[in-house]
Amino acid sequence: MVNKSKQFILEQIKADIITQNICPDLAQEAKNLVIGNGNLSSTVVFVGEAPGKKEDETGVPFVGAAGKFLDELLSSINLERSDIFITNIVKYRPPKNRDPKPEEKLAFASFLEREIKLVEPKVIVTLGRHSMNYFLPDAKIGDVHGNIQIIEFAGRNIRLMPLYHPAAGLYNGSLRKVLQADILKLKSQLN
Ligand code: URA
Repeated sequence: MVNKSKQFILEQIKADIITQNICPDLAQEAKNLVIGNGNLSSTVVFVGEAPGKKEDETGVPFVGAAGKFLDELLSSINLERSDIFITNIVKYRPPKNRDPKPEEKLAFASFLEREIKLVEPKVIVTLGRHSMNYFLPDAKIGDVHGNIQIIEFAGRNIRLMPLYHPAAGLYNGSLRKVLQADILKLKSQLN
């Protein structure tokens, strides 16, 4: 499918979230719905948790401090934002950046799945434990970060690489190093 028609389908997913009135409490407090963004034909989809303040203001995922660090990580493996597709499980900012609730993640699940099916990536990269536990409910991020896991998604096996959330690396030097090492392992998966 050409990217133009994929873009149309992405807009449809966004419209469906609005017309189906998903998470009205979150929607009421949010400035923008933050749908996925980037290359709709990418081999890799990154999945974060939920938008923060900057993302809520702009309607674009990962444009705040964590997003800047993510850009640095991507650039270390010669990738730019325009090479990847990036989205969140929950598409509205939770008030005061609280953790998304299980029922909120569930409410957005089918829309995340539609985004992933649209892009058809070879690899899914989860950012943080909320995102990882969506696909791998029993996994512990300390055990599996940086290691490819095989999951079944939409009837086929797909590679998933859990990473720590880039926000965790902003103020913690050792996690920063872990993220810098883990992203290098992603490079070999994409070649
Ligand atoms: N953190 C996330 O998980 N997602 C964003 O879009 C921004 C920060």
